Amino acid sequence: MKKETAVSNLDKVITQVEGARLNISEHHIVKIIGISKYSESIDISTLYHAGQRAFGENKVQDLKLKSEELSEFPLEWHFVGRLQKNKINNLIDLNPTLVQSIDSLELAQEFNKKLQVKNKKISCLLQINSAKEDTKSGVMPEDAINIYKNIIETCPNIKLKGVMSIGAHVEDRNIVKDSFKTTKKIYDELVPFGAKYCSMGMSSDFELAISCGSNMIRVGSLLFK
Ligand SMILES: *Cc1c(COP(=O)(O)O)cnc(C)c1O
Repeated sequence: MKKETAVSNLDKVITQVEGARLNISEHHIVKIIGISKYSESIDISTLYHAGQRAFGENKVQDLKLKSEELSEFPLEWHFVGRLQKNKINNLIDLNPTLVQSIDSLELAQEFNKKLQVKNKKISCLLQINSAKEDTKSGVMPEDAINIYKNIIETCPNIKLKGVMSIGAHVEDRNIVKDSFKTTKKIYDELVPFGAKYCSMGMSSDFELAISCGSNMIRVGSLLFK
């Protein structure tokens, strides 16, 4: 990716984010995570030089490779993929800034156990399958509050910071919007329990997500195209 392309991609996304967030309030801050899963380290470094600091991967081995190749830069790394139990230790060793994809109580408790052994704490989000799609992981929206509270109580080494969700995978924008609203409603109920991030919105729907209250978006293809 050329430097000019990175600057222009980032500029366009930031301009759209500004428009969407100012529609809510000038105090509504949205954090942009560059999802680099289809890109090489060289392109991540180009985007870093254009001003992007936070990146996310969906495979532990890719996160390891790229974070090691780019260790000279002060990057923030997020994990957004399905986490297999046999990869938990590898992920912990990479000290990710935020693990966004804790998708069950069972995974949280396994993750917590491995964190305790290593005497570490890691920030995480609970993933919610707000559109109830078979192809997606995450807890069911009606179970989310109880599971969130249960993780707080039983997993002292997980610093639970909020929720993550992927918008409904359909053409109808109203259905996508409903899935975002479902997530936001759950997030609002969890704010008194320490939730800070409502991570929702990707390249195709981040403006809609922000209009529904998202304060963290995960943008891949638009930034890296
Ligand atoms: C790939 C991915 C994204 C980014 O998707 P784009 O459509 O390329 O912006 C966001 N979140 C998750 C969990 C992903 O796997």
